[in-house]
Amino acid sequence: MKSFEYTRPTSVQEAVQLLSAQNARALGGGTDLLGIMKDALLPTDRVVDLKGIQGLDHIKDDAGTLAIGALARLGDIASSSLVSQKAPALAQAAGLVASPQIRNMGTLGGNLAQKVRCWYFRDADRTDCYKRNGSYCYAVLGASDLHAVFGGAACFAVHPSDTATALSALDASVVVAGPKGQRTVPIASFFVGPDTDYLRETVLAPDEIITEVRVPPGALGAPSVFLKAAPRRSIDFARTSVGAQVVGTNVIQTARIALGAVAPTPHRATKAEAFLEGKSLAADTIAQAAELAADGAKPLASNAYKVPLIKGLVRQALTALAAR
Ligand SMILES: Cc1cc2nc3c(=O)[nH]c(=O)nc-3n(C[C@H](O)[C@H](O)[C@H](O)COP(=O)(O)OP(=O)(O)OC[C@H]3O[C@@H](n4cnc5c(N)ncnc54)[C@H](O)[C@@H]3O)c2cc1C
Ligand code: SF4
Repeated sequence: MKSFEYTRPTSVQEAVQLLSAQNARALGGGTDLLGIMKDALLPTDRVVDLKGIQGLDHIKDDAGTLAIGALARLGDIASSSLVSQKAPALAQAAGLVASPQIRNMGTLGGNLAQKVRCWYFRDADRTDCYKRNGSYCYAVLGASDLHAVFGGAACFAVHPSDTATALSALDASVVVAGPKGQRTVPIASFFVGPDTDYLRETVLAPDEIITEVRVPPGALGAPSVFLKAAPRRSIDFARTSVGAQVVGTNVIQTARIALGAVAPTPHRATKAEAFLEGKSLAADTIAQAAELAADGAKPLASNAYKVPLIKGLVRQALTALAAR
């Protein structure tokens, strides 16, 4: 591995200042970043280890809002009774990430800020891929099994984070700290696709970090669910996932359906959501919503299987919510 400077700040301000250097990168649990560094996928001259900062690993009820620090470990989120009770989809998503070892190291901030898993991006030799500041996408004419069916442009890599999908269905916000102070970004605006900038996956500037994720009171306690389809039952990224929440007892007031691993950002199935509002979760309504969830999908050469997967997972998720 190429040599680098290791730093361990003790405050958010110090971390942000250290990240202002060229090729400086934040370190959470390291389950993604260390692999990237070992394979030299992205230049890294300084590592800023956030784990020296106290008070960023909380999971708490903050005056009715569920507040989770960026350094909270996925395993702790999955096993938190507060999260399971208030935001079940998030607990389920955290519990389905990778393996117990990775969940015990991996943090929520790192899960949201992780890089894409496109097998060409992860191949050290493919230095001319757009995501590595090159000018070519191998997936367009190559193997596109893992790639986007919505919203691809120059790059068709999907966002791999399971918690991002659940948090999109829960209408969460991401608290970000940078040199100018703190800002709160709605999750719907936090992730960016290749049409905005194919070199990054989020709105984070190089010297900004996630400090907290907040789930608002309106979304808490209402039934929500996260489901993930992957070839292996453990240690596997989603081929497609769904986070869904309905608010309203007999008649749905608000429905949110977020799809994971089908687009460069978590993809909201807005037509299905609008269709569900004002209805109850009867079987025929669920079936129609599942069809609408895949509306607009444009598969590449080898990922058309994701379209029936979307429909099946949405049907399964809404059926589970109807039974609550
Ligand atoms: C074998 C394997 C299987 C995996 N399976 C899954 C899976 O099924 N689902 C899934 O969602 N993920 C999966 N992952 C991806 C990922 O490693 C973990 O999800 C983990 O949550 C990442 O968190 P971390 O703290 O280890 O991140 P790190 O590796 O420390 O960081 C990841 C990225 O986020 C940045 N970063 C870290 N913390 C912050 C912060 N607070 N603010 C801003 N940027 C930050 C880093 O600079 C880096 O770019 C898998 C990884 C591996 C190796
Ligand atoms: S999909 Fe994106 S990451 Fe993958 S080869 Fe194409 S440009 Fe690179």
